[in-house]
Amino acid sequence: MRISERLAQIKPSATLAVNAKAQELRAQGREIISLAVGQPDFGTPQHVCDAAKAAMDDGFTRYTPVPGIPELRDAVANYYTKFYGAKTCGDNAIISNGGKQVLYNLLMALINPGEEVLIPAPYWVSYPAMVQFAEGVSVFVPTTAEEDYLVTLEGLEAVRTDKTRVLILNSPSNPTGCCYTQAQLEAIAQWARNNDIFIISDEVYDRLVYAPAEPASLAKVWETHPETIAIVGALSKSFCMTGWRVGYALAHEELVKAMSKIQGQSTSNINSITQKAALAALNGSWDIVDEMKESFVRRRDLAYEIITGWGAECPKPDGAFYLFPVLDKFYTEDAPDSAAMCTKILEEVGVALVPGSAFGDDKCIRFSYAVDDETLKDALSKVGSVLLGK
Ligand code: PLP
Repeated sequence: MRISERLAQIKPSATLAVNAKAQELRAQGREIISLAVGQPDFGTPQHVCDAAKAAMDDGFTRYTPVPGIPELRDAVANYYTKFYGAKTCGDNAIISNGGKQVLYNLLMALINPGEEVLIPAPYWVSYPAMVQFAEGVSVFVPTTAEEDYLVTLEGLEAVRTDKTRVLILNSPSNPTGCCYTQAQLEAIAQWARNNDIFIISDEVYDRLVYAPAEPASLAKVWETHPETIAIVGALSKSFCMTGWRVGYALAHEELVKAMSKIQGQSTSNINSITQKAALAALNGSWDIVDEMKESFVRRRDLAYEIITGWGAECPKPDGAFYLFPVLDKFYTEDAPDSAAMCTKILEEVGVALVPGSAFGDDKCIRFSYAVDDETLKDALSKVGSVLLGK
């Protein structure tokens, strides 16, 4: 079978690989706890499911406009007005198959071959592969646990060249959970504007920010600089709708048209039924978000106590549902890197984690706390026994 060279360069998703290995062990009868999950352990709210059922019963099962039904695009625009005060309208919104397709469309629409994309590391696993598909060049901007894994203007300036076209910001971050403040985001946006660099602000976890931190978003300044920033959002995490595939962007009208052109020649509109469900989510009750936040704060604190109790360095994150501790001092001769250590942990005590190497930092391992408290405690005690050799 002859597969294109383009694909030979692309690494398969590491998170999916961990889950596949965990499933294999489960099939052999082993009890496996997964802290590798990238989705909330809550169900999609009933009123959202009901809207989908009603859409089917009403025969709302045909093609829709490629960028989404007008009322959903309006609802996305209203979301950014309601939460961030952005004055905008449905023409500035596009609905795609998850945050993932929004990011893919954006990179395809913005990058010329050879142009550079700045990616603060650690980074979400799919950014480099998407840049590669767009024939761009990923340039990583290193950050450290001491700096809460946030980039500084000096760090950005150090890697900027005249080929730099885009900066991808991700706050709250997957894998670190760390968040920029509004002031930090705006300072970076100012630097980017001064250097003619476009910002893709991946804010798919924007509702999952824990007090006293406050949700920060470039949507607050988007209105005055719409040609330099695109905001990426999704209902996957905030409304527990990972399987429904609904993401959206707030972007300049011309960019929305360009993205629609790409989407129109690839997937067309997202599922029509999902669009009605998304409309119910955006326009209905947000109680689920508060409920989840309460649980996530409790679990974050629990996991943070245990992990730092091992003597591991780990910034205490203000958002998402991940911790990204530095664990390399526990690596051993038979498990000398994050991937080998994750395999050892999975095989010895049946806990699935994602190696930091997948996110561009081999010193770390990602822990998701999107599981119930008892499971979390049990899993962490097992991981601790391997790391501390007890
Ligand atoms: N961006 C980040 C940082 C993510 O963690 C994810 C999913 O894990 C996505 C984008 C994609 O989200 P979706 O499932 O909506 O495609």
